[in-house]
This record gives sequence, C-alpha cells and structure tokens, in this order.
Amino acid sequence: MNLIFATSNLNKLKEIKSLIPEGIYLNDLTSLNFFDKIPEKENSIEKNAVFKANFINSKYNLNVFADDTGLEVEALNGEPGVYSARYAGEECDSDKNIKKLLKKLIDKKNRKAKFKTVIALILNHELHQFEGIVNGTISHSKKGNKGFGYDSVFIPEGYHKSFAELTMNEKNEISHRSIAVKKLICFLKN
Ligand code: IMP
Repeated sequence: MNLIFATSNLNKLKEIKSLIPEGIYLNDLTSLNFFDKIPEKENSIEKNAVFKANFINSKYNLNVFADDTGLEVEALNGEPGVYSARYAGEECDSDKNIKKLLKKLIDKKNRKAKFKTVIALILNHELHQFEGIVNGTISHSKKGNKGFGYDSVFIPEGYHKSFAELTMNEKNEISHRSIAVKKLICFLKN
C-alpha cells in the first residue's frame, strides 16, 4: 500500500517511518514536489489534521494522512494547544516558543502537561481519525538535544529525562505520535 504523509517535518517523518511495517510505502510531500507549507489556521488540533489531509487529497487524489500535535499545559488552561507551532508569534521557532512557555510557568507549581497528536487519514475517500496522548510535566529549563519542538522541556510521566534526552526509539515507545501511529497501523492492517 502506498501512502502519503502530508508533512514537510523531517523529524516527524523519521519517527513515523521507523514505526511503519513492511508493505506500507510511505512518502512525504517532497515526493509530490510539494514544498509549500499547508496552512494551519483551524481552531482545534483535530480540524488542522483533517484540513491538511483534505488539502493534499483534493490536490493529488491520493491516499494520505496528516498529523497535528499540540502541547497542553494544565496551569495555562491548555495553552499553547492548537497554537503550539506559533506560540511566540507567526514567524517563531521552537526556542522562542519554549522561552515563552517557561516564562509563563515561572511561578507555577503545577507543571502538568500533555502532548496530543491527531492523525487524519483519507483512505479511498473516507476519513478516519486516530488520537495519541502522553502525560508529563514541563521542566524548569531545557534538557537534552535530541528530538525537536518542545521535546527538551517535556518530561514524560514515569521518567526523569526529557523527550530530548531519549533516543528516537525510546521516545517512540511512549510518545503521543507513536500511540496515534500504532492505532493507524492497526487499522491499515485490518
Ligand atoms: P505541528 O503538529 O507540526 O503543527 O506541531 C505543533 C508544534 O508542536 C510545533 O511547534 C512542533 O515543533 C511541536 N511538536 C510537534 N510534535 C512534537 C513532538 O513530538 N515533540 C515536541 N514538540 C512537538
């Protein structure tokens, strides 16, 4: 089976490729010569994932899935959530997003947070959705240099290391994205 993963994020592609079993051939958007950024302007993680999958499906008429992820921090009423990518402004990067997050949490005792991924799959014109959540806490400073995004400040529940201190395989054993991807794979196999 051939599937397009509607992303230009090479870190996500690498993580997901390492989980996909033989028999599913995964290509990213560069294989379609698509190098633009798909807009993420919806007001929920679910809607963004569906929008991205629909966008590519209607342009190329191919089976496709897209993921959208948000970091939800309890003491900030779920912020940054759907705005995780652009928390510190439209033209921001992960460093600036993390800086803003740590500043907002500076006097907060409750550092509980969760990562949520929603995968939207369009297979033979039908939409299917898969969700993955991992609970954890936000550290007081950045730890580790693996991974991407908010990985360096997210300590998954039961661990003392941040996601950025784990290997990709260790992260994949527990991460939000891997939980959603495993549900996707299970669906595709049946
Ligand atoms: P999106 O799903 O690409 O829109 O990601 C939203 C934001 O969350 C971006 O700032 C990403 O860097 C960040 N993000 C997505 N997945 C992860 C992850 O697995 N770890 C850490 N940050 C992530």
